[in-house]
Amino acid sequence: MSGTAQHERDPVLSKIGSGLKKRTELALEDDFLRKAVAFTTDKLKTGRLKAMDDFGDWETWRERGRAIREHVVSHLDYYLTQFSDNVAKAGGHVHFCRSGEDAVRAFLDIANKAEAKLVAKGKSMVSEEIHLNERLEQIGIEAVETDLGEYILQLAKETPSHLIIPAIHKNKRQIADLFSDHAGEPFPAETRPLADYARRKLRSIFLEADIGLTGCNFGIAESGTITLVSNEGNGRMVSTIPKIHVVVMGMERLVPTFADVEVMLNLLARSATGQKLTTYTSFITGPRREGDLDGPEELHVLVLDNGRSSQLGDPQFQEVLHCIRCAACLNVCPVYRHVGGHTYGSVYSGPIGAVLTPLLQQDYQEAGQLAYASSLCGACYEACPVKIPLHDMLVQLRHRKVKLKMTPAAERLAFKTYATAFGSVTLYRMANKAAYWMQRPLLKGGAIRRAPGPLAGWTQSRFLPMKPKRSFRERWAELQRELADAPPSANATAPADAARKEERP
Ligand code: SF4
Repeated sequence: MSGTAQHERDPVLSKIGSGLKKRTELALEDDFLRKAVAFTTDKLKTGRLKAMDDFGDWETWRERGRAIREHVVSHLDYYLTQFSDNVAKAGGHVHFCRSGEDAVRAFLDIANKAEAKLVAKGKSMVSEEIHLNERLEQIGIEAVETDLGEYILQLAKETPSHLIIPAIHKNKRQIADLFSDHAGEPFPAETRPLADYARRKLRSIFLEADIGLTGCNFGIAESGTITLVSNEGNGRMVSTIPKIHVVVMGMERLVPTFADVEVMLNLLARSATGQKLTTYTSFITGPRREGDLDGPEELHVLVLDNGRSSQLGDPQFQEVLHCIRCAACLNVCPVYRHVGGHTYGSVYSGPIGAVLTPLLQQDYQEAGQLAYASSLCGACYEACPVKIPLHDMLVQLRHRKVKLKMTPAAERLAFKTYATAFGSVTLYRMANKAAYWMQRPLLKGGAIRRAPGPLAGWTQSRFLPMKPKRSFRERWAELQRELADAPPSANATAPADAARKEERP
C-alpha cells in the first residue's frame, strides 16, 4: 500500500500534527524514498546554483523579485480590481471565492451549466488545496490529471509530494508496475514506453474534455492575462482544446505588468529547475476571439482567498504571500530531503508548507505542529528567490502556539521553571549545583547516554556531556582571586622597571 493511501485510512496518520511523528518514523524507515528524494532534490539544487551563476548578479534580481511581490501584496486590493476589470474587458469572467467551498461551488455551477462530464486538468496546487477532484468524483464528473507526475499519482491514488515534481518519491519500476496494472499489459521500466502510454491515454482526454482546468503562475493586472508555465505542453492542450477553460488561482498570484512578469519568470524557472525558461510559457488573455485558430469559448478565473487575506496586514506573516511556489526551499531543506512531502500531511510541504498550512487553515494546534519540522538552519531563506524569511516565521509560529497555550502543560511548566531559574542569580546557582548531583546516577563514561522521560529524545542520536562540578563563572572567579593574590612575577615587573628607568633624566 502506498504511503499516502495508508495515511488516508489511518485516523492518526491522517492528522497533520498528531500524525507527524509517526509519518516521520515511517519515512525514515523507507530507504528508497529517502534516496529518491535526496537524488532529485540534489539535481534540482545543483541546477539552481549553476543557473544562478550563469545568470550573474543573482542578488540584484532576487531583490527586484522581492520588491515586486512586496508591492503587489501591499496593494492587493488595487491590483485585484485592475486584473478583474481587464479579464472582463477581454471577455472572461472572474469569480471571487472566499473559501475552498465557494471555489468548488463556482466550478460546479460552470460545470453544471455546460453539462460537463469530463474535466482535463493541468497541474494546479490550488485545486489540490480545495480537494476539487474528490468533489467532482462525488457528483459523477470525471477529472483526469494531464501533467505526467500528477497522472501517475492519480492512478496511485496519492497526493503530490513536491510542489513541482509531484511524483518525486516514485521510480521507473514503480511507475511501470502502476501502468501495467492500469493497462492490463506489462510495461518495461523505461522512460519512452511509459511516456508513450501516458501520451496515448491523455490525448483522447484533451480531445474529449468538456472543461480544461489549469492553475495560474502569474496573473498580469495591466492586461488581465494568465501566465502558465509547464515543461510538458499539457497546459497548452488543456487551455486551448476544451470549450471552457477554468483557471483556479490564489488571490496573491498577481504582478502589475508584463515587465514584472519577465523578472518573476526568470527567477521562477532558475529557482525551480535550473532552466533559463520553462519549455512552454503561455500568456492567455480572454477566451478565443474572432479569427483565432484555437482557444476556449469561455474563460473563467476563480480567484481564491481561503485564508490568504487574513495574512494581509500581519507584520509577521504577510510576506508568506510573496511565495511563487518554486520549491527551492524544499530542495535545500534538510528535513524535507530526509522525509519527503507526504510526511507533512498537507498539500504544501517543506518549509513553505510548514508556514503556509497553519496560516491558511488558521489552525495552530494541529497544523501548527509543522513549525517544529525544521532545524531552523535558514537554508530555505538563502534559497528563496523572493527572500521570504521562512526560518523567522517558523519561530514566530512556535511563539504563537506558546502564547495561545497550545503546547503540552508539562512543557509549559518546564519552561516556566527554566525561566524563573534563569531570571534569578541565586536560583540559577542553586539549580546548577542541583543538576550536578542529579545527573550522577545517569552518567556512563563521563556522559549521559540515555536520558530519562521526555528528555529521552535528546539522547537517541547524541549524548549529553557531563556537567562539571564547578561552573565556568566559579572557575573564573577563582582564577581572578589567584591572580590577585599571587606575588608580582619577575617577568611582569621587569619591563615596567625598565620603562621607569628610561624615564629618569
Ligand atoms: S518560499 Fe520561496 S523558495 Fe519556497 S516555494 Fe516559495 S518562493 Fe520558492
